[in-house]
Amino acid sequence: MNSSLYQFTAKALFLFLFCSYNLIGQKAPDSLVVPPTLNKINKEKKLDVSELSALIDTLHFEQETLDTINKLMEEYWANNTFNPYSDTFLKFPFNISFSDTVYASPIDRKKVVTSRYGWRWGRPHHGIDIDLISGDNVRAILDGKVRYVRYHGGHGRTVVIRHENGLETVYAHLSKQLVKENDTVVKGQIIGKGGVTGNARGSHLHLEVRYQGKSINPEYLFDFNKENNIRSKELWVTKKWTNPLKHRSTRRSRVTVYTTEEEAILGKEAESTVYIIRKGDTLWKIARMHQLSVNQLCRLNSIKKTSKLRIGQRIVLN
Ligand SMILES: [Zn+2]
Repeated sequence: MNSSLYQFTAKALFLFLFCSYNLIGQKAPDSLVVPPTLNKINKEKKLDVSELSALIDTLHFEQETLDTINKLMEEYWANNTFNPYSDTFLKFPFNISFSDTVYASPIDRKKVVTSRYGWRWGRPHHGIDIDLISGDNVRAILDGKVRYVRYHGGHGRTVVIRHENGLETVYAHLSKQLVKENDTVVKGQIIGKGGVTGNARGSHLHLEVRYQGKSINPEYLFDFNKENNIRSKELWVTKKWTNPLKHRSTRRSRVTVYTTEEEAILGKEAESTVYIIRKGDTLWKIARMHQLSVNQLCRLNSIKKTSKLRIGQRIVLN
């Protein structure tokens, strides 16, 4: 079904059920009369109170999911800025969900990675370089909406697509852009032709993956193998995977995917320097000792200045 129609139906059904449920629930919880419209929808099902309640829960969940998608798709939508998220603060680890287990290859030939995400020539390389010949098709790796189609400095001719999970993919050095801003694209759709525009040594596709403006090592999310596997439907991204300094463009980083928040928090600790609170410690003392501000320390640990510290509590310092 068309997604806006689906959304409308889900919303209408939810509202209707919610109102009916509340009214009936208050007046006669045991003798639920299924309203005519709902009867029409579920002719054979004949829902009882618990089934109706379960249906409402499901619809509520679906509505929340749709609200999240809409928020991710609509907020910070700008056609004229490469990174419209400059004032957002991202809390780590953050979650990314995929509705699929595979992506579409961005090129039609075998993917040969010539340079990876990481530190390169004393500068950050925020994407992955995939070899191609000028004029080759470049395809959207996931369904989405085109946010940016412009010439962007060193990136040359660039297309940025935003996806429903909030990720943005960036396709750079193109010779031709074949989509318009605000176009809806499907996974595998041709969005341009490969090239050497911008700061490129030889024709290749520079592919970036960003979330709220932060680049993520694409290999953490996608396996650039023949099968085009997405690493996991649920992924938790730690700071390490958004920091080119922690990776080298000439070497493949060892990928251990965090599929739950707990795993990611443990992983974050393994990636960070951890300080264990001792008797007499205060945030001011710890901050001073490690050349940090109290604000930085609070942000890093998602705590308040007024938070009480426990002896033995673990605090990350980076
Ligand atoms: Zn590159």
